Amino acid sequence: PKISPSATIRFRPFATRLSHRCSPTLSNKPMDVKPIFPGKAAPFVIAGPCSAESREQVLEAARRLSLLPSVTAFRAGVWKPRTHPGGFEGHGGEALEWLRQAKAETGLPVATEVATASHVEACLRAGIDILWLGARTSGNPFAVQEIADALRGTDVAVLIKNPISPDLELWAGAIERIYGAGIRRIAAVHRGFSTFGGTSQYRNAPLWTIPLQLSVRYPELPVIHDPSHVGGRRDLIEPLVRQALDTGFSGLIIESHCHPDEALSDAAQQITPKRLGEILGNVIGRRRSQPTPHLEKLRAEIDAVDSELLDILARRMAISRNIGEYKRSESMSVLQATRFNDLIADRCKRGSNLGLSDKFLRTVFNAIHDESVATQLRVIDRSPE
Ligand code: PEP
Ligand code: MN
Repeated sequence: PKISPSATIRFRPFATRLSHRCSPTLSNKPMDVKPIFPGKAAPFVIAGPCSAESREQVLEAARRLSLLPSVTAFRAGVWKPRTHPGGFEGHGGEALEWLRQAKAETGLPVATEVATASHVEACLRAGIDILWLGARTSGNPFAVQEIADALRGTDVAVLIKNPISPDLELWAGAIERIYGAGIRRIAAVHRGFSTFGGTSQYRNAPLWTIPLQLSVRYPELPVIHDPSHVGGRRDLIEPLVRQALDTGFSGLIIESHCHPDEALSDAAQQITPKRLGEILGNVIGRRRSQPTPHLEKLRAEIDAVDSELLDILARRMAISRNIGEYKRSESMSVLQATRFNDLIADRCKRGSNLGLSDKFLRTVFNAIHDESVATQLRVIDRSPE
């Protein structure tokens, strides 16, 4: 992913190998994903208050947000899972009617959170367009399966937030359960992860590697970034939005309240529709959606260099096979550790003179060496395969 130099938050490179598509439910077939917003170009923006607090608050926010050209849908939580008892837990089913009215007045599709099968049924009856599974629900397979069963046979759009814990498999599993129920208008939401202690500026650590790994596993699945729950602070929304779009996310879900300081939940992270308009203008307004001729030219150069790299790798492995033949005829062992150590030291030194990082050089030459040893073993026929 390309990161703009202006992003104030640094991207951490992949810490682990990318995991490939490997799931008992989805096998190797591409996901058959249908658009959440047919005919709308990415990035789409779902905006609205954390909670539906009153009819007036919902309608005022929806009206003001509907005036922003980049806003695609309206959100508001009606059932609010709160960490501690005693907080504002939402107005429940009664507030669905406020969302329905917001949709009728503004034409924006409306979204809310569901945590149980009865929430799903109430939303379907009220004509809610988009349902999301919150971070406290998506980590519970029983709850997710109950919701999936309630969704079966419908065409409603469903977003699955990452679970609170930094666990790619739990997130992927929740997505597979919803997809397995036949939901095709589906997307993942990256809302950050809870990590114990630490002095991070974020409310929830973004751990960008995890959503990127999800995208590698399911390339067809749109991933939406939620800067509000990652940042937890108004001033972090713009840099997070910028980074999410630079990274290639398909959309955004952002909390916006007309009077953020008075919000009954998540006050510190909500921004006014006016501020949201400024951020979207700064970030999306100046973003080109089509590759430019210059970018096409640079990509063509990369393609040409990659062809050379492939030829060189194939030539290198052909030499390894010859070495294997020779070692077999001379009864020599394949692995010669001192030769390998000398080789790595030499390549790292020469590579660093070319401006390549030591970590990168070691990764590449270790991988090449592993394959070279495997090739020689196959030739010598000492391979276990
Ligand atoms: C929300 O979107 O308001 C919400 C409760 O989110 P999460 O489940 O990500 O905490
Ligand atoms: Mn919230």
